[in-house]
Amino acid sequence: MGKALIIGCGGVASAAIHKCCQNSEVFTEICIASRTKAKCDALKEKLEGTTSTKITTAQVDADHVDELTALIKKEKPDVVLNLALPYQDLTIMDACLAAKTHYIDTANYEPEDTAKFEYKWQWAYREKFEKAGITALLGSGFDPGVTGVFSAYAQKHYFDEIHYIDILDCNAGDHGYPFATNFNPEINIREVSARGSYWENGSWVETEPMEIKKVYDFPEIGEKDMYLLHHEELESLALNIKGIKRIRFFMTFGQSYLTHLKCLENVGMTSIEPIEFEGKQIVPLQFLKAVLPDPSSLGPRTKGKTNIGCIFRGIKDGKERNLYIYNVCDHQECYREVGSQAVAYTTGVPAMIGAMMVMTGKWLKPGVFNVEEFDPDPFMEALNRWGLPWKTEEQPELVD
Ligand code: NDP
Repeated sequence: MGKALIIGCGGVASAAIHKCCQNSEVFTEICIASRTKAKCDALKEKLEGTTSTKITTAQVDADHVDELTALIKKEKPDVVLNLALPYQDLTIMDACLAAKTHYIDTANYEPEDTAKFEYKWQWAYREKFEKAGITALLGSGFDPGVTGVFSAYAQKHYFDEIHYIDILDCNAGDHGYPFATNFNPEINIREVSARGSYWENGSWVETEPMEIKKVYDFPEIGEKDMYLLHHEELESLALNIKGIKRIRFFMTFGQSYLTHLKCLENVGMTSIEPIEFEGKQIVPLQFLKAVLPDPSSLGPRTKGKTNIGCIFRGIKDGKERNLYIYNVCDHQECYREVGSQAVAYTTGVPAMIGAMMVMTGKWLKPGVFNVEEFDPDPFMEALNRWGLPWKTEEQPELVD
């Protein structure tokens, strides 16, 4: 079928690349390009001989549009799958425009010096992509990503109008460390230490970080504490799900994680303000990242399951209706299959599927789009086929 250029070679990329290599009919060729080429070469060596996908590697600094454009023009991929960090989204989008190549990512742009993630920067590219005749698919991970596809699916098949969405992200995995993050520590800590917010009756309601706590009995996992966070898909779903009154996002955290985070915050280690240290400027959070366990090393140690899904409440044929759509994933099964824990797996699989949707022409229209703006059916089928089967429950426990 075609060729994907994958940028980044960390935890999520590794899971996505394993899945592309299982799906050689679509991904006949991939080029893995990242800042540290040795990581790309090591992954290529591990996968070669297990797949008919042809794999090449390259070095690229994705902060530089010229370097990226030259690479895309040389490799001539059908799509560019951005699995580097949110800081690189705009440079990669600019390069895709210059080389007229479709773009897919899993996280929205965030300036490195402001911990605020919003779609406004990437949505500003709508007209440019439309004029260039190419597609940008934003947020094709799990959350954002599958949560948006679940919403579009609920809207298409179950509701006349959805009024309430609660997105619940439960990670009941235990890696045995007192404190570690399941994906890039810098991005993760920026996200969880920010103020919370949710969308209600047409505007944002802000909370203190971790101010709202609920307990939920997750299918196949049991009771867990979860906390309201701001999350990027709230912004696009508030626009794209017509008639919506409220959307909230909750994530589970264990007590050990929260105690460590509070302590690190209190001593200034989670700050993104540069400080002077031994004659050099350093960012405390980047230093903290360097001493924490690398998320990609957690795979063999992490046991337990994740459950991520959405609870919808709304109206069908004049009657109230509820629906819970969720996926349960087992950390050890993911590790056996692709050598990654479930957080990388649950992001990497939808990243591969998003790239497949664009490459096969199922999700192709000029412009910049979030996942819920496309037909959810082929993506939902692909989730079942490629390792993230989902379940529905029509009488779920509700959050309030
Ligand atoms: P990692 O830190 O493990 O990997 C990031 C990769 O990007 C590394 O290979 C890194 O290279 C590379 N990289 C960073 N800067 C550059 C640069 N300037 N040029 C080229 N390559 C660069 O992160 P994760 O795999 O944990 O996360 C990847 C993305 O997935 C993030 O954007 C994250 O927010 C997103 N994500 C999305 C989720 C969702 O459900 N939607 C859930 C979890 C994550 P090097 O090896 O040299 O450091």
